[in-house]
Amino acid sequence: MRKSSYIAVLMLMTVFYSSAQEKMASDPCGFPDTTSLEYKIASSGNWGYGYDTLLYDLAQWKKSPFVIVDSIGATVQNRTMFLMTIQDTTKISHARKRVWIHARTHPGEVQGTWVTNEIIKILLSNSSLGKKLRDSCVFNIVPMYNPDGVELGKARENAHDVDIESNWNVDTSASEPEVKVLRKIFTRLMTEPNPIQIALNMHSSTGTKRFFVYHTVKGTSQLYSTIQIKFIDTVRYNFPGGIQPYNYSISWKDSAARQYPESWFWFNHKEKVLALTYEDMNDISANSFDKTANAIARGIADQLGIFGTSVSFVENGTVPTEFLLWQNFPNPFNPTTIIKYQLPIANHVSLRVYDILGREVATLINEAQLYGTHSVTFNASSLSSGVYVYRLITGNIIEIKKMQLIR
Ligand SMILES: [Zn+2]
Repeated sequence: MRKSSYIAVLMLMTVFYSSAQEKMASDPCGFPDTTSLEYKIASSGNWGYGYDTLLYDLAQWKKSPFVIVDSIGATVQNRTMFLMTIQDTTKISHARKRVWIHARTHPGEVQGTWVTNEIIKILLSNSSLGKKLRDSCVFNIVPMYNPDGVELGKARENAHDVDIESNWNVDTSASEPEVKVLRKIFTRLMTEPNPIQIALNMHSSTGTKRFFVYHTVKGTSQLYSTIQIKFIDTVRYNFPGGIQPYNYSISWKDSAARQYPESWFWFNHKEKVLALTYEDMNDISANSFDKTANAIARGIADQLGIFGTSVSFVENGTVPTEFLLWQNFPNPFNPTTIIKYQLPIANHVSLRVYDILGREVATLINEAQLYGTHSVTFNASSLSSGVYVYRLITGNIIEIKKMQLIR
C-alpha cells in the first residue's frame, strides 16, 4: 500500500488498539481494516494459507512416526476437520500430560497458524525441548478449525456467517457443526485418564502486540488467576520483550460468560484446565513466529513441570505483588547465611556482596529470573569477620542491607 495510507492504517489501528484494550470483553482479534485493498487481496488468497496447503502439510507431518491424523467431523460445507495427535509412543508408556491446541477459528488471523505450525515443527524436531515434550505429553492439535471460512475468504465467520469462537453458549443442538465437533472431542478427551491440562486457542489481534487473553478473578477464582499468570509470565520469560503481560482481560461475570471455548472449559472443569486464547500480531510487522512458538512450547513444559523447574512461583497461594528483600538469616552468621527476596515480575537480577570499603567480595546472582520468591545461600568461609553489605538491583530498584560475619 502507499506509504500515506499505510500510516493512516497504522494510526487507525493505534486508535482501535487503545479502545480495544479497555473493551477487551468484546473481542480483541481480527483484521485491522476490512475495507482495505490488503484485506481483499489477502482474503481472496485464503489469507496465505488455505485448506489445500493444510492437506499438503498434514501429508508431510504424517510421515513422522510421532504423528497420527484423524478426521473428527465435518464443516457446514462438508470439509473434513482434522485432529493431529503428537506423542512419542516408543518411549515407556506413562500417562502423558495432555495439551490441546486449535488454530484458525478466525480465518483472517493466519498468524495464529504460523505460530501453531512452528510449535508442530518443534514437537517433531530433534531438539531437547521437542523430544522432552513428545515423551512427556500428548498434543492434540486442530490446525484449522474453520476451513470453510478460510476458503470463503471470511475474516471471522464460518459458512453460515456465524462466529464460531463466540457462540459456545448456544443450545447444544442448535450450535454450528464445527462447534459441535470441538465440544464433542473436548468432552471425550476430558474423560480420558489423562484429560486436557492446557488448551490454547490461537488467534491474532489488531492490537499489533502479542498477548494472551487473561481471565480476571471476577468470574473465575484466585487460584485460576494465579495459574494463568504463572503460565503467561513463563512464556514471556522465554521471549524477553516479545509478549505482553496479563493486562488484556475478559471477565466471565459479564456478557462474555459461556460464549467461548475457554469458558466452556472453565464452567465444566474449573482450575483443572488452563484454557487461554493467544493473540499474535495481525499486522505486516508480525514476525518471530519461531521464537513465539519456542516460548509457548517452553512455557507449556515449565507449566507442566516437565523439566522439573525449581522456582517457587507462589508462596501461601499468592503471587508476589511487590518487590521485597529480606534481612539475611541467620544474622550474625558463620559462615553461611540465606538471602531471600521476591520479584513481582520476571526481570534481570543482580545480587552482590561488598565489604565495608565498598569492594565487591561475591556475585551471588547475575541473571534474568522468573517472578516469585527466590533464596540464595551466601558462603563467607573465605572472608574475615566484619560487616558486609548485600546489594540487589532489579529494574529500577536498588536495595542494600547490612549483615555481620562473626568468625
Ligand atoms: Zn480471533
